Amino acid sequence: MPVTHNRYRPATTPHIIPAEELDAGQKAQLVNGCPAGLFRYTADGGLTVDFHGCLECGTCRLLCDPDTLARWQYPASGFGIVYRFG
Ligand code: SF4
Repeated sequence: MPVTHNRYRPATTPHIIPAEELDAGQKAQLVNGCPAGLFRYTADGGLTVDFHGCLECGTCRLLCDPDTLARWQYPASGFGIVYRFG
């Protein structure tokens, strides 16, 4: 069936999760390393990641060890944008 308009189906399960206990250096590595700027400091000094915008470039995975990223995997299929064609 042809796609008549762009559709976006966001994933509900994060495919990237920072570790719970991160020191300032580990947080800075994620915040400064992601080319999409998806890691951000929270007001209370924590860290969030907007995994929906991930480019799947792997930079954070290469920069960090398992003590920094609790999870890094490719996102589940069937989510994201489906472009209209025709
Ligand atoms: S894989 Fe790339 S775009 Fe995605 S969160 Fe890591 S550094 Fe950012």
